[in-house]
Amino acid sequence: MPNIHKLRCRCGQVHGEIKLAGLSNRCVCYCTDCQAFVRHLRAPDVLDSRGGTDIVQVPPSNLVFTQGAENLACLRLTDRGMLRWYSTCCQTTIGNTPANWRISFVGLIHTCLGSENQSLEASFGPVSMRVGVKTAFGEVKPAASGLFSGLAKAIALIVRGHIGSAYRANPFFNPQTGLPIAKPTVLSASELATAKSAA
Ligand SMILES: [Zn+2]
Ligand SMILES: [Zn+2]
Repeated sequence: MPNIHKLRCRCGQVHGEIKLAGLSNRCVCYCTDCQAFVRHLRAPDVLDSRGGTDIVQVPPSNLVFTQGAENLACLRLTDRGMLRWYSTCCQTTIGNTPANWRISFVGLIHTCLGSENQSLEASFGPVSMRVGVKTAFGEVKPAASGLFSGLAKAIALIVRGHIGSAYRANPFFNPQTGLPIAKPTVLSASELATAKSAA
């Protein structure tokens, strides 16, 4: 098994590598914020048939961008929201990070992880957590699962990030200033309302 999983935007200008070591957690999130991010970008092929986003949570220090990081941009749905990263070259959804780099984890979105015929399952295991299920599409909702174990893994990732200030090794943040590498754009109230209204 290769010990890295390749990251790539759709058009191939952004490349990266994820070291397959330590904790990771696969999660499908059906929340309206994740759906709104996708709608705002008009990014195709992100949501599954029930409106879920397939996300892999990894320690940011396991991720490096090897090419095209200047094409990364980030959005916030509100001025308190997560930083939601995407590529400006081709509107590929890349991942989500907390705004504060000391809360050290990144949720990478499947759209940047599928290019090299490496399966998410082989690299990161099966989906172990389903959250935001109340706002999944359709009458029959998926069962929520893995909330406790997923939360425990997320906390473990954050705690690990504090050992020796490991949180500073985060490719989405400037290691000197701790600021995001791209200035976040916050949606206006009307942009948010449009993004939140079902297509
Ligand atoms: Zn691209
Ligand atoms: Zn979500």
